[in-house]
Amino acid sequence: MAFDAEAIRADFPILLRHVHGKPLVYLDSAASAQKPRAVIEAMSRAMEHSYANVHRGLHTLANETTEAYEGARAKAAAFIGAEPSEIVFTKGGTEAINLVASGLGRFLQPGDEIVLSEMEHHANIVPWHFLRERHGVVLKWVRVTDDGQLDLEHFQSLLGPRTRVVALSHMSNVLGTINDAKDLARMAHEAGALVLFDGCQAIVHKQVDVKDIDADFYVFSAHKLYGPTGIGVLYGKADKLAALPPYQGGGEMIGVVSKDEITYADPPHRFEAGTPPILEAIGLGAAIDWISALDRRAVAEHEHRLYARVREGLAGANWLKVVGEAPGKGAILSFMVDGAHAHDVAQILDRYGVAVRAGTHCAEPLMRRFGLTSSARASFALYNTEEEADAFVDALKKTQAFFA
Ligand code: PMP
Repeated sequence: MAFDAEAIRADFPILLRHVHGKPLVYLDSAASAQKPRAVIEAMSRAMEHSYANVHRGLHTLANETTEAYEGARAKAAAFIGAEPSEIVFTKGGTEAINLVASGLGRFLQPGDEIVLSEMEHHANIVPWHFLRERHGVVLKWVRVTDDGQLDLEHFQSLLGPRTRVVALSHMSNVLGTINDAKDLARMAHEAGALVLFDGCQAIVHKQVDVKDIDADFYVFSAHKLYGPTGIGVLYGKADKLAALPPYQGGGEMIGVVSKDEITYADPPHRFEAGTPPILEAIGLGAAIDWISALDRRAVAEHEHRLYARVREGLAGANWLKVVGEAPGKGAILSFMVDGAHAHDVAQILDRYGVAVRAGTHCAEPLMRRFGLTSSARASFALYNTEEEADAFVDALKKTQAFFA
């Protein structure tokens, strides 16, 4: 059965908004997705009925909240085929990568190599640059082909006896390219390296099974997955998490503290110092329940259909340049309009009610690879409709007319 985006839209109160007198066409979900009522209500319900700090309580509300918080961990684990003890809650995908990089830094020597790619988000670049600055590790960069794929031969050639970590995006937030994580993990492991995937985009559009991929670490944020901001997930294989030193110190992450000595809790609590994002975890749990009730394959097909419809609507537009043409790519359109700055394009589209993002998308190495200083990006989500795809095409043609 075809996916019913209209029915899904009823779950998202914000989609009823008008912008500049036009119905909102929200094509910025790759930056952050809108929230279904199930998420909004789960968080308000917790605040209205059952809220206290977690873990250290001996009273009813504390116990209920702890159950909800740990329940969200179990949901996140089941969602990606992991064990709850392998799930660390962080404040986002960015913090999750920083946690891993800073922990691994302790084990790295000058000259050790970390392999990244030209399509990484800054979240999966800067934490590794810290290790270059602080520990003298060498960063190696997998090239991206003209159509926006990882150059696998080049990747293979970069793997060697000094490769310690491979950190790659599962899906590019600019190109939409979906990388074959399982194959990349196999290649990394054959070289004896640990592999981390930045799943911030992929998790939204694909069923992810971290055991099948054989990822050592896999990270994502809740807010792109129709959940709240302020929480992300770090999956780590049990033995890999156990080997990592703590990231931040404070309450909840310790075993014993005395004036002269300290021991640490086991993962995942070792990495969750202080009061965690409790309400956000509850919201993430609700988002996972909500998305898990959908036919995810049908959702992906729907998003692909929207993308194909837009491409068809723009066929023959010789004023349009698109980056990212990888086969099987996700529904993200990064583009430039001849003679126009991407920021101007985004601002004019906004006058038509169409929300797109413009800039470097936190991917400056990729921009440089394609000789760009910025691009505009329309990203499609399950609540977008064919009418919206057409409205975007129409608004973009009108926008281009300003610059013709
Ligand atoms: N990686 C990718 C591919 C992303 O798209 C993003 C969000 N733009 C991030 C990492 C960072 O996620 P967050 O800002 O939620 O920590």
